[in-house]
Amino acid sequence: MATTDTDLIIAGGGLAGATLALALSRAVPDLRVTVVESFPLSPDAVPDDYQPSYDSRSTALAWGSRLIFEELGLWQRLSEHATPIQHIHVSDRGRFGATRLDAESHGQPALGYVADNRWMGLCLMRELLDTGVQWQAPGEVVDMTPIAGGVDVAIKQNSEVRSLTAQCLVVADGGRSGLRETLGFQTRQQAYGQNALIANVSTSDSHRFTAYERFTDAGPMALLPHGSASLAGSQSALVWTLTDQDLEQVLSLSDPEKCRRLQDRFGWRLGRFTHIGQCNHYPLTLTTVDEPVRAGVALVGNAAHALHPVAGQGFNLALRGLMTLVEQFRVAHASGQSIGDLSVLRRYQELHRQDWQQTVQFSDSLIRVFGDSSVPVLAARDAGLVGLDLLPGAKRWFARKAMGTGGRRAVIHSPGSASREQMEHE
Ligand SMILES: Cc1cc2nc3c(=O)[nH]c(=O)nc-3n(C[C@H](O)[C@H](O)[C@H](O)COP(=O)(O)OP(=O)(O)OC[C@H]3O[C@@H](n4cnc5c(N)ncnc54)[C@H](O)[C@@H]3O)c2cc1C
Repeated sequence: MATTDTDLIIAGGGLAGATLALALSRAVPDLRVTVVESFPLSPDAVPDDYQPSYDSRSTALAWGSRLIFEELGLWQRLSEHATPIQHIHVSDRGRFGATRLDAESHGQPALGYVADNRWMGLCLMRELLDTGVQWQAPGEVVDMTPIAGGVDVAIKQNSEVRSLTAQCLVVADGGRSGLRETLGFQTRQQAYGQNALIANVSTSDSHRFTAYERFTDAGPMALLPHGSASLAGSQSALVWTLTDQDLEQVLSLSDPEKCRRLQDRFGWRLGRFTHIGQCNHYPLTLTTVDEPVRAGVALVGNAAHALHPVAGQGFNLALRGLMTLVEQFRVAHASGQSIGDLSVLRRYQELHRQDWQQTVQFSDSLIRVFGDSSVPVLAARDAGLVGLDLLPGAKRWFARKAMGTGGRRAVIHSPGSASREQMEHE
């Protein structure tokens, strides 16, 4: 094998890149990993304190993601500020169909959890402090050239570009991945013609640990239980889908007017909307890459697939993909094969393909079916939601999708645990 400066370079230290680095430090501790992150964000620069913020963005973590974080030894810390989802309520505004999922009926304490992205980032950084992962931040991966036995990666730091060689480059630079374009990966993009407005809201009634998914004629919305215990269950994280025109109009409203508009769209299941925090918004596009690997390079996280956020699947899917990749790296490294070898990366792609295709289809069809207001589709929606409620088999299928668990399990091995089981989608 050719001699390289490091074994693996990860471009992007966001949720996906940092989780991959941590998982590798657990499963293949002697693999040399360097993370390059364009923000001045590194394990050495984490604040000591964490105050849950009313205005921070959060992520719904599926039950399967909790299991992965347990495997990584991260869950105990993360759970300090994770709000459990004990019930999921799916409904259609103005229609009679609705379905409910309860953790209890699946014999679990929760169907999933809601955690602030900032808190997840902080937990990851604190865990990474005690590992051998090298961190270069701020620094930007600007290009990559294939070389014999690996890749030569161009990194820009303080306006100087220098090169670092590795067996493999993992691109984890997010949904608007500049590197994906620079390296010429073919993407498929489908704009939904909608935006996600994100904000934390307060309500007069407690959420009682319920996540609401509500489909309206103007687009889907989700309200996830959120916030510290001191808020006594009165805070939820809102994902509200709006057309460009509606978004502009909603943003121009005062906060009490926004609450009234929200009330009209969502209804009274949480009582009165009393407060809305800082609003952030994102244009919604489904981005997928059919061939996310080539010799020496793999795309992961949002760089590989960016989904509509209302079904809360993007990061959960990314996590399962990361664990599949880690396992392929572990096996290759143990047998003396280069981790950038095309056969290693292709195997990862094959093992992950069915999961991402099914998850993309699940969240995309949810948006399309519930975004269609033609009469037959409305009737089918009513029948579908009622049917889900009445048919235990259909409901279990829906629950498995929501919980990020499935039938097929792949065994992954790491030092200290002879066989670890990783949940994978069917
Ligand atoms: C509104 C919204 C709500 C969501 N809600 C959910 C949810 O409830 N559940 C769920 O599972 N998923 C959810 N998602 C998806 C989830 O947020 C993403 O899957 C996750 O954040 C992806 O992380 P990432 O690390 O791939 O990308 P990012 O978080 O974008 O991180 C990319 C990192 O790369 C760095 N970077 C960029 N370019 C370079 C470069 N050239 N060199 C070095 N570093 C670089 C950036 O600074 C950044 O830190 C949501 C997404 C959105 C938009």
